Amino acid sequence: MTGVTYAGELCIDLAAISDNTRRLDELAGSAGVMAVVKAGGYGHGLVPSALAALRGGATWLGVAQLAEALALRAAGITAPVLSWLYVPGADLEAAVAAEVDLAVSAPWGLEAVAEAARATERTARVHLKVDTGLGRNGVLHGQAYTDLLHRARALEAEGAVAVVGIMQHFAYADSPGHPEVLAQVARFDEAVAQAEAAGCRPQVRHVANSAATLTNPSLAYDLVRPGLAVYGLSPVPDLGGPQDYGLTPAMTWTAPLSQVKAVPAGQGLSYGHEYHTPTDTLVGVLPLGYADGLPRAATNVGPVQVAGERHTVSGRVCMDQVVIDLGPDSPAQAGDRCVLWGTGRDGEPTAQDWADATGTISYELITRVGERVPRRYLGAEATWPLR
Ligand SMILES: *Cc1c(COP(=O)(O)O)cnc(C)c1O
Repeated sequence: MTGVTYAGELCIDLAAISDNTRRLDELAGSAGVMAVVKAGGYGHGLVPSALAALRGGATWLGVAQLAEALALRAAGITAPVLSWLYVPGADLEAAVAAEVDLAVSAPWGLEAVAEAARATERTARVHLKVDTGLGRNGVLHGQAYTDLLHRARALEAEGAVAVVGIMQHFAYADSPGHPEVLAQVARFDEAVAQAEAAGCRPQVRHVANSAATLTNPSLAYDLVRPGLAVYGLSPVPDLGGPQDYGLTPAMTWTAPLSQVKAVPAGQGLSYGHEYHTPTDTLVGVLPLGYADGLPRAATNVGPVQVAGERHTVSGRVCMDQVVIDLGPDSPAQAGDRCVLWGTGRDGEPTAQDWADATGTISYELITRVGERVPRRYLGAEATWPLR
């Protein structure tokens, strides 16, 4: 082994990302796939994940922030990229110059995009982001949307913008039977009809995140917009796990034990002694903690595979370390590689297991693995340089 693997290693299977994307492309039927690679490819690495998704058949990439879109362009990626979150004063000129599509959620945003288009002497490509009921960003359906639409038409006539897309995001996609899903779809269809009646010619209508893509093919429209499923995790764990949807988790987090030692029965472990050994036993120390992205809520509940067996974090999660009661007969030794989460194929815990144990969702765990953890990419050959 070379190098110092202090806080373990995050192994990213890029072939799994490509395969998952291919699977989502199949599910989407004739619709295309916009792979969502925001938040550093959900913690898997922005550019490597984007390239892997493109190899798997994605034809678009979606990100939240402008800086993420520009980083994709800086890496030489020429596929269509959509960014949907920016604030007044953002460098929209850089985005327009880099041919990044921009979602428009408010009148000020439309004017700012048009201004950036004039300054760069280009036509900015915009996607109207309609709040059909999520109650987050987006222009609210109804009068606010109608007003924005008319202003967009005027700017189209001027040549400043082209409305190339209309999009919305679901509040309840993870509860496929919830009536609000279809209510949002109805409002979206109305918004599309209004845009067409006003003279807009959007090429792509897109509404479906991972949950909608997996559970309701009729919501694919022209483009699906999955994030989590690209990385092989299920957004609807109560309905089905990754294998039920033909997906493979792409992230495996391992770390070596820094110490194994014998302690007597009744020994308190870690700060505040929230765990006491029930018997004479062996305890292992893992050199990672909440600063590395392990949730502190994993105290006494986080699952870890050590020497092929499932164990549980024993006592409090610290900033840099956790302790595990391995039982008196464990063969584990310092240096043995433990698995925090992985595919689950060899009995190791998954990110979903960690989410269940700590009362959160897998999204939160995978996007928060800390900077101290080195990343290693599998299947990265032929991905770099791009051209
Ligand atoms: C994050 C995001 C997605 C992807 O959501 P998943 O649940 O990860 O599939 C799609 N669209 C928008 C607007 C988003 O913010």
